[in-house]
Amino acid sequence: MKDKSTNFHFPKNPEEVKYPIYPGQFSVRSRLRAVKHLLWAEQSGLTEKLEKRYGKGVVLTSSGSAALVLALTYSGAGRGKEVIFSSFSCPNVIDAVLQSGAAPVFAQLDEHLSLSFEDVKKKATRQTCAIILTHVYGRRENTAIIDWAKENGIVVIDDAAQAMFTKQSDTFAGGLGDFGVLSFGPSKPLASIGGGALIAPKELLQQNANPPMERRSQVTADYRFYIRNQRIQAVMKRKRHHPISYLYRKAGVMPSMKATKLEALPDKPAVVPVLRMHPAREAIIDDQLSRMDQLVTASLQNVEAAGEIFAKAEETYGIRMIQPQEGEHLNYLTIVFPRDEERYGCSVYLAERGIQTCWNYLPLERIPIYETYAGDGEEDPLWKRVLSLPFKPPLRQEQIRYIAESVLSYCEQKNKTE
Ligand SMILES: *Cc1c(COP(=O)(O)O)cnc(C)c1O
Repeated sequence: MKDKSTNFHFPKNPEEVKYPIYPGQFSVRSRLRAVKHLLWAEQSGLTEKLEKRYGKGVVLTSSGSAALVLALTYSGAGRGKEVIFSSFSCPNVIDAVLQSGAAPVFAQLDEHLSLSFEDVKKKATRQTCAIILTHVYGRRENTAIIDWAKENGIVVIDDAAQAMFTKQSDTFAGGLGDFGVLSFGPSKPLASIGGGALIAPKELLQQNANPPMERRSQVTADYRFYIRNQRIQAVMKRKRHHPISYLYRKAGVMPSMKATKLEALPDKPAVVPVLRMHPAREAIIDDQLSRMDQLVTASLQNVEAAGEIFAKAEETYGIRMIQPQEGEHLNYLTIVFPRDEERYGCSVYLAERGIQTCWNYLPLERIPIYETYAGDGEEDPLWKRVLSLPFKPPLRQEQIRYIAESVLSYCEQKNKTE
């Protein structure tokens, strides 16, 4: 962790950001509707909609992490048990495993970014009670793992927090294993104010106790936080020296995008409350879900526009873009540089052009509090070379092209100076 300065989530100055990696998705109209939901919270049809989508039972939860903790508990996770998953993921996953009491066991990814079936077989022991599939960047998973787990009495948790709109074997991700997990956090495919869902057989959900419900005030606080960040982004975007932008900076009100990954390293695993979702949160998410088709199509078109430009970059500079496969809806537009550390230079270059980038993921074994779970001599080959770019609506194709071409011009000038 010595190379701290080269591990930032760029740019460091949010007032320069024109193209945020996580654009806000609440229009003025949807904000008005959200406020109405916060005040009156009529019954929404979100549970029924999701139950139909997955053909299983659904319990809405206060967060994706809460749903994951429930899935782990129902899988028998606890002291003396082990849970296998990839360390190339966010801390929420390992935190949920630790909260369940089980021991985390990291397995590698394969060349397609699925959890490696070979490595899962190597890491499984008699204590293994569950495997978590995490759909890195929104990709599909190798379903051979599911069949094998079934034969070996191991539960599969299909964590689709990153992949809610990805489909494989005619099923939406989240519906593949014994349990499914969804998240509606601001950085997820359905970018909302937070919330989650547990997908499981109906009978099992009926037999188990219902968790208590979160408070409405929590939903209001999450909504305010989300809108504040969205508003700051909008102001920052307009002009650097805009008086309001100046006031925000002066007041020290900064969106979370200012925090860099390594500055914000956790000092202890997070413990999340396991609660049922409040109807106000349900109604807000339900509203967004009904408009997601458009967003999914638009972001797919944006990915294609970037793909054309990066096809050129691959030939000339060896940069590879992680392309969506059949049925995949990517949560990140990610490129892989041929050499380690190039992404640092590129991040700085893009930041100067107002483009925020993100280095997903910092492997969990690199975070000091999780170091003890590292396997022997296993170094993730990807993490030093991957860079995620903004690509989601409201960004349009011309802006995506500008972003992709900026990466190209970085490579050009770098090649010239070498
Ligand atoms: C974000 C995330 C979670 C947790 O979701 P929250 O709603 O943020 O608690 C779980 N698993 C994966 C793979 C995630 O990316």
